Amino acid sequence: MTSTLAHRSMAAVWHPCTPMQRHEAAPPLAIDRASGPWLYDTDGRRYLDGISSWWVNLFGHGHPHIRAALADQLERLDHILLAGCTHAPVVELSERLAALTGLGHASYASDGASATEIALKMSAHYWRNLGRPEKNRFVGLAGGYHGETVGALSVTDVEIFRSAYAPLTRLSATVPSPDARHALPGESAADVALRAAAALEDWLQAHHQETAALIVEPLIQCAAGMVMYDAVYLRQARQLCDRYQVHLVVDEIATGFGRTGRLFAHQQASITPDFICLSKGLTGGTLPLSVVLTTDTVYQAFYGTDAARAFLHSHSYTGNPLACRAALATLDLFAQRDALTTNQAMAAQISAAFAPLNTHPRVRHARHLGMVWAWDIDTDLPDFAQRYHHAALRHGLLLRPIGRTLYCMPPYVLDAPAIAHLGRASLAALEDCLQQEAALRQRTEAA
Ligand SMILES: *Cc1c(COP(=O)(O)O)cnc(C)c1O
Repeated sequence: MTSTLAHRSMAAVWHPCTPMQRHEAAPPLAIDRASGPWLYDTDGRRYLDGISSWWVNLFGHGHPHIRAALADQLERLDHILLAGCTHAPVVELSERLAALTGLGHASYASDGASATEIALKMSAHYWRNLGRPEKNRFVGLAGGYHGETVGALSVTDVEIFRSAYAPLTRLSATVPSPDARHALPGESAADVALRAAAALEDWLQAHHQETAALIVEPLIQCAAGMVMYDAVYLRQARQLCDRYQVHLVVDEIATGFGRTGRLFAHQQASITPDFICLSKGLTGGTLPLSVVLTTDTVYQAFYGTDAARAFLHSHSYTGNPLACRAALATLDLFAQRDALTTNQAMAAQISAAFAPLNTHPRVRHARHLGMVWAWDIDTDLPDFAQRYHHAALRHGLLLRPIGRTLYCMPPYVLDAPAIAHLGRASLAALEDCLQQEAALRQRTEAA
């Protein structure tokens, strides 16, 4: 059964993020259904979803409250265009997000990358409306990831995603990442962050005249391999952006909705950004939806009747009512369950289950923030990520390391048996990989 569906998929579906021929040796996992944090394949085997289905699922699969909201919405209104029309879910969601962030103007799209596009366009257009059209460049952090559409790639500094398309983009500048792993002996994470902020200041001093915005992933650069950094960087960045008249865009697409311990990561630095990009967890992992929130100041620079000054960006499904209802239901769950407090206790239990990984002799830079854990594995297996992924599947766990960084970003609904399973399976998969490494080394030495 599994092989049938997987092989039909390989013939008909162009899968993302993997060279297709690799699936000859490792066909895609055919998932039939999911419940809570568990995925069931077409043969009935189950896997713990250790990466929240690519960082989107917050309260488990098929949550009854979200399902009920979607069923109700489907009865009333499936979709309506947002140009010249409106509907309750999009209004309510915008009001609630404004109350949660202090940024009162919401512009919708369907994917994270499209939110990045909106933020970049809106920022540059803002400066144009103010008579500063030369402020149209962007700066991001080394290793930053903001999506893979052509515009978003211009601020994404992940070589593998952008090298083929570099001629299509107008690449943005990067400044050093405040990556806490860069600490010199005796330095704290805050010291590294201050050093990186000084480099940002040098850059802004030289280039602020032509720069519209700084875009950052707050506290964790997820796609770079769960790179974590001190909140002082964000405070400094806010001050520098104010001083040099450059917008601060926080891309909370991955870090938003409780991942870092607060509802939004930038709130840990007590700053107000000019733009916030949200997606991924926004609908609890049920439907594609993204949103850019911005300030009254930005909004007012577009306000008028002149089409050339207005922000006309649109997508067919902008503000889809079903997706907005799923997002409202997800926000209900944060309020009803006091999810952030519940997560603190759960995170302590998960950390305890990961203790053997944290102290493993092959692990460097064990790190944790909120509901994200990461470990750099000291291995010379060149294809560690694939090997680990498949080893973990054999132990009933879905994880996908990034390069040699193993990480876990689970849904917020793990019970004690699931946590124990996570700890056991993640360690067992590492031991399997290290055995493969030893066998390979022996074979190389014998040859
Ligand atoms: C995933 C991600 C994006 C892109 O979102 P898509 O929905 O995949 O287009 C952008 N920024 C960050 C920080 C992300 O993690």
